[in-house]
Amino acid sequence: MQLLSPLMEAILAGVLGLLAGSFLNVVIYRLPQMLERQWAAECAEHAGAEPAQGEAFNLMRPRSRCRQCGHVIRWYENVPVLSYLALRGKCSACGTSIGARYPLVELATGALFFFCIQRWGATPEGAAWCVFSAALVTLALIDWDTTLLPDDITLPLLWAGLIVSALRWTELPLTHALWGAIAGYLSLWSIYKAFKLLTGKEGMGYGDFKLFAALGAWFGWQALVPMILMASVIGAVVGIALKFSSGLREGGYVPFGPFLAGAGLTAMFFGPASILRAVGL
Ligand SMILES: [Zn+2]
Repeated sequence: MQLLSPLMEAILAGVLGLLAGSFLNVVIYRLPQMLERQWAAECAEHAGAEPAQGEAFNLMRPRSRCRQCGHVIRWYENVPVLSYLALRGKCSACGTSIGARYPLVELATGALFFFCIQRWGATPEGAAWCVFSAALVTLALIDWDTTLLPDDITLPLLWAGLIVSALRWTELPLTHALWGAIAGYLSLWSIYKAFKLLTGKEGMGYGDFKLFAALGAWFGWQALVPMILMASVIGAVVGIALKFSSGLREGGYVPFGPFLAGAGLTAMFFGPASILRAVGL
């Protein structure tokens, strides 16, 4: 017996996605800082210094504050999207604007969850794609902000792709997923090595290899070429656009992760083959 209509299920998933997006905002902002603190602590330890005793800093603590005035954000100021609208995008204490990215991440995650459950139903496969899209949103924004793709997200995403295939939640055969992961990693690794040999520069980071390996695990080796083509073309267009609008950060480095993540989400929406059609192959 169906308890809820499929549309109701998708709407519920969308609401859940808004809440998940609110959490992803915290991860995007704090995970890089947590890693930085960890590295600093390890370096200090190697140097023989006493470990610093600071306040706990993780995804739960301390509570979210206004970055400008330190006003602790109350629960009713933290309702996805609605609070942002009610506060007109400003801190209730000091009036500093909050930044439209917070509600946009919430809306995007809500829309992605809605789409996944609408398409695959309230099934293990639907849930798996929700997790997949949440991970890609997080990775894309962390990479954009810090040019890091944390192992804490890329590696579980890679394993999840293999496990989902092994459990037959998706139709992707396990051998395709496995070769996808291997070929995804090795292809970018070889490009990296060749580029470094020829130019002496590093064109991308190891995080990119791991993310591409994860995409290979979720879509199979056949999807790697369409996804890398799409990521490269859009990455180049955005890179050139940023150069002309002089919005490029110091060093002129455009992280590749957001474009890989975009290609992964496109492959989820339309299937990997449609990307080839879109680029005229
Ligand atoms: Zn404030």
